Amino acid sequence: MEKEAMEGHVNVMLPQENLRSDLPNGGIVLGHDKEISTLQEEISALRSRQRHLNRRRREALGKLIDLKGSIRVFCRVRPSISTSNIKIKSPVTVEQENIAVRAVGIKKDSSVDRVFDQESTQDDVFHEVKPILRSALDGHNVCILAFGQTGTGKTYTMEGTSDNLGAVPRAIQELFSHAAQDTSSTYSFSISMLEVYMGSLRDLLAPRQQPLFRSIEGNTTCNLSILATTSGSVQVEGLTDVAVPDLKKANQWYCRGRRSRSTSGTNVNNVSSRSHWWVGLDRVSACAVCSGNLNSTQFYLVLALSVCSLTRITIRRCGGVTEQVSKLWLVDLGGSERLLKTGASGLTMDEGKAINLSLSALGDVIAALRRKRSHVPYRNSKLTQILSDSLGDGSKVVMVVHISPSKDDVGETICSLGFAKRARLIESSRELSEDLKMLKRKRLAELDKEICDAEQELGVLNEQIRSAERS
Ligand code: ADP
Ligand code: MG
Repeated sequence: MEKEAMEGHVNVMLPQENLRSDLPNGGIVLGHDKEISTLQEEISALRSRQRHLNRRRREALGKLIDLKGSIRVFCRVRPSISTSNIKIKSPVTVEQENIAVRAVGIKKDSSVDRVFDQESTQDDVFHEVKPILRSALDGHNVCILAFGQTGTGKTYTMEGTSDNLGAVPRAIQELFSHAAQDTSSTYSFSISMLEVYMGSLRDLLAPRQQPLFRSIEGNTTCNLSILATTSGSVQVEGLTDVAVPDLKKANQWYCRGRRSRSTSGTNVNNVSSRSHWWVGLDRVSACAVCSGNLNSTQFYLVLALSVCSLTRITIRRCGGVTEQVSKLWLVDLGGSERLLKTGASGLTMDEGKAINLSLSALGDVIAALRRKRSHVPYRNSKLTQILSDSLGDGSKVVMVVHISPSKDDVGETICSLGFAKRARLIESSRELSEDLKMLKRKRLAELDKEICDAEQELGVLNEQIRSAERS
């Protein structure tokens, strides 16, 4: 049956007139049993072809992602935020895969897997992220991380605005839309949201949110612990995980989690606009804010820089008898600026250390994975512990490094590009010769086409199956 289905399209001839002959008492005229069984056979042939195509699409997608690299590093440049009319030349210039930084005494060239320039749209970014979501639906654990200095657009890329949705709401939409189209499997989704702050975990969807101050000062709200199961998967014990039956519910829970974030407007006296204001400060004033006697608003300002926000979508796919569970992590990392440099002290200093520790631990983990080291130092931070089953073998990672086009931020830009370089080390296609690069591009285009063709045929097939089932 499977073989027959593999050989070409299967056309279903629907015996329309005959199907209208149900008896008034609910029985069916005996002669129609034959048509029903023919129809059932046809449906099962269609399903078998669908399974085959799905397998082919999945394999091609796996190859495509492996060829692109299972850890991909993108760089997005924030548009200039300039209050004056005078156009100042940015020290950052970009090409498709290259970023050049030029300033007095600085000449740095970096390459990443893809650059999004100042004009890039949320659509452009999501287009590159989309294939990896398919991977999550196919059963792989996936991580999408936004890295960069505060004010460079991490939250914009991940959350976006109401008229320019970011990667998280788009990803949620995409998951539900794919689930509705794919008649070969049934999917169910659940959502969790948490924050990692100074090594503590905060559940954003918990029924009763603890006041923010308690979580910072008393360190009592964090009753979540990270458990590694024998199968290698990671669980955050006590973390709320809400089943979301449809897109509307998923969006409602996501918005609720966003509102509970420490950096949301309701919680911290509109800190988000303050962090935008921070963008406008020059380095000297920024130092003054950090090193002065911090009042609570200023304290929150620093907090806004240091919190990592994580959204986890758990995907359960049931195709036939087996159930596959995978996780999609969407992470807005804390600001990568080196707070210690600013002369901050006390709690601020600890925060600076904590956030730097999470980010440098993440850098170490990614570098070890890139080099295919046998020991990967997941245990060095809470962040990397939580993500440990979604960064390593079989998982797919996209890291979007955000940089500022401003002259004042050149130091941080160089540091962020250094982080990107570390993450890309070894697998970088920069080391490939031009011939090999061309071959790689050709193979990528072939795989892309294979996936597109399979998806198109699957679309037609899904429609045929639906129509046959209705009959
Ligand atoms: P971060 O989360 O890195 O601190 P934000 O996402 O809050 O930075 O961005 C800072 C400001 O810049 C926000 O007002 C945001 O709307 C704006 N912004 C960032 N990136 C873009 C972009 N690509 N296009 C338009 N506005 C952007
Ligand atoms: Mg942010």
